Amino acid sequence: MKKNWQSYIHRIFFALVALIIIGLLVGSVSWVLVFGLGAYLAWTLVQAIKLHQWLYSPSSENAEQGSKSTPPESHGLWGDLFDGIHSLQKGHTVAQNRLRTMINRVQESANALNDAVIMTDARGAMEWWNKSATNYLGFIQRSDHGQPIYNLIRTPAFKTYFEQKEYDEPIELSSPAKPHIVLRFRITLFGEDDRLIIAQDITRIHNLEQMRKDFVSNVSHELRTPLTVISGYLETLSGNSDSLPPIWKRALNTMSQQAGRMEQLISDLLLLAKFETVDQSQAQQETSIHHLLESIRSDALALSGDQGHNIKLKNSADGSFIGDESQLRSAFSNIIFNAVKYTPSEGDVDIHWWSDDEGVHLSVKDSGVGIDPIHIPRLTERFYRADPSRHKDTGGSGLGLAIVKHVLRNHDGELEVKSSQGLGSEFICHFPKTRHIENTGSPHA
Ligand code: ADP
Repeated sequence: MKKNWQSYIHRIFFALVALIIIGLLVGSVSWVLVFGLGAYLAWTLVQAIKLHQWLYSPSSENAEQGSKSTPPESHGLWGDLFDGIHSLQKGHTVAQNRLRTMINRVQESANALNDAVIMTDARGAMEWWNKSATNYLGFIQRSDHGQPIYNLIRTPAFKTYFEQKEYDEPIELSSPAKPHIVLRFRITLFGEDDRLIIAQDITRIHNLEQMRKDFVSNVSHELRTPLTVISGYLETLSGNSDSLPPIWKRALNTMSQQAGRMEQLISDLLLLAKFETVDQSQAQQETSIHHLLESIRSDALALSGDQGHNIKLKNSADGSFIGDESQLRSAFSNIIFNAVKYTPSEGDVDIHWWSDDEGVHLSVKDSGVGIDPIHIPRLTERFYRADPSRHKDTGGSGLGLAIVKHVLRNHDGELEVKSSQGLGSEFICHFPKTRHIENTGSPHA
């Protein structure tokens, strides 16, 4: 039974008193004390050896439980010590087993996942992965353990993504082991820059998306030829419409307008399909943005015509831009022409191109009708219109800002929209510094 420490002190004290009394009886206190204390020391030594053997001899290990077998028999202070250590051990073993069961369950459930799950350390060394990772990515348990993950997923885009530490957007890549499988990788940082990588099989969605793009582009192509024929005939008929009754003249006019809209729609659909699938490495030519903006400004003035918009261009960015000129022309024209379309006559449109520590930027600010902020997050969706009643007057296809979004994505850029109803709008395209080459030309005002 466990006693408190004072009772041991009492016992030692009584033993000493007994030894002194015996010493007095036999007439040699010092010899009796030496003998008694020597005996106690020897007993203590034996107990210490027992403890050492119990703790360190492998035969005392309970293999199944990973704990020590029953402690050696003893009594008094040593007996309590053995019992105390044994119960601590048992507590540890129970906690250890509980943890082991929990880890096994987590591993079992991660193994049962359809998604590939991989854990790496901060340098990318592979620490653990589940069965799906073996299946999708072809990892080999024995040889790949501890290998840097980007040695096994060799696509440069993956290495760049892995090292950047910004994982808001996932990355989509073909599986290195089974190229027909498309995987969407998401990375989460945990611990000290360790990474949890989850790869999801999106082959079906990817193929459907590809089918959709092909379908839109094929239908647009097929519609183009008959529409060109219809527009041609309408133009010929309109040229000779003087002899026609007024009702037919009106009908011809409306048909020509609608055919024009359809042509615009088809060419925007084709452009969108092209920019969606274009190889981003094509957007690498050195382009003079100043000349590009000058020419778009002239077109915008022509679009404004009699409406007399006040369209100003300010260029405060020295140098040129790395990109694809035809894509940039489409994007910038869409934003600038929108500013003209959605701004009443004689309104202002200010175009500003500038660079700063963060990169290069294009701002197109108008004094037009503005946009209710609730529409802003959805503006770049295809056919989304902030004010559907107005688009009849402006005649847009509803694809302009979707084209802008894709062009910006192809140039690592982002679109920012600031607007409120009735107070005009500002569309700002932000591009990273890496796209800007400084000092190869002089700034223009
Ligand atoms: P649309 O061909 O209809 O102009 P866009 O994709 O270019 O299509 O623009 C989407 C919608 O965004 C427009 O229908 C319009 O409601 C709104 N919008 C775009 N630019 C402006 C602007 N400068 N001022 C006000 N509204 C705008």
